[in-house]
Amino acid sequence: MNQVLKTASVAALLWCVGCAPGLLRDLPDPVFATPAQPKATPAPSVKAPPPAPAPSRKPARRSIDGATVVVDAGHGGKDPGAQGVSVMPEKAVNLAVALILAQELSDRGAKVVTTRDTDRFITLDGRAAMAERNRADLFVSIHSDAAQRAAASGSTLYIARNASDRSRRAARSIEAAFKRARIECRGINGAGFRVLVGHSRPAVLVECGFLTNRNEARKLNTSSYQAKLALAIADGITDYFSK
Ligand SMILES: [Zn+2]
Repeated sequence: MNQVLKTASVAALLWCVGCAPGLLRDLPDPVFATPAQPKATPAPSVKAPPPAPAPSRKPARRSIDGATVVVDAGHGGKDPGAQGVSVMPEKAVNLAVALILAQELSDRGAKVVTTRDTDRFITLDGRAAMAERNRADLFVSIHSDAAQRAAASGSTLYIARNASDRSRRAARSIEAAFKRARIECRGINGAGFRVLVGHSRPAVLVECGFLTNRNEARKLNTSSYQAKLALAIADGITDYFSK
């Protein structure tokens, strides 16, 4: 990845001006408990029917059961993140994607911890500490990108430069899921972001797309594209834990 874009990504992470809380839309309260599933009890003398097939968009529940995933919505509170040409500031896009992702992973059986589920500020060290404290099997940080070049587009995955094999495999699984979902992905880069290197747990940072790209910003502001991103990330994470 060229240096200009890398620099832009770092700048996006550090962006702390232009907060526009009035633009934040109402976000649903997170519900992380797995909803109770009514279980049909077959009559003892009747051959049990085959289990109902899972919805096709979800892979079968596998070893994600019981895995602890810390979902980190980047920025928040006094730190709006990037704005670009987006109506929603980065912190709000990140939170929307992160909340859908958290719910989805929880539905699939993971133990999910969110670093924030409202518009509030948390330090980078505070986020990293949550990965450690919860002994995260995976820490996934959700961001949205900014670049000087308005045409820059696509998601990007980051892992620590000396990332563990687990972090690499998790990033590759998410990249593959993005490709299956036809979400543009620019690849996997190494970076020194605090949320990646400030703790010992496997970690991936997802830049969901560029808020400086008019077309991508428009999509990132829609709940349908936020859900598409979140479900693809959840699919990648599910595949990672299944291997
Ligand atoms: Zn960011």
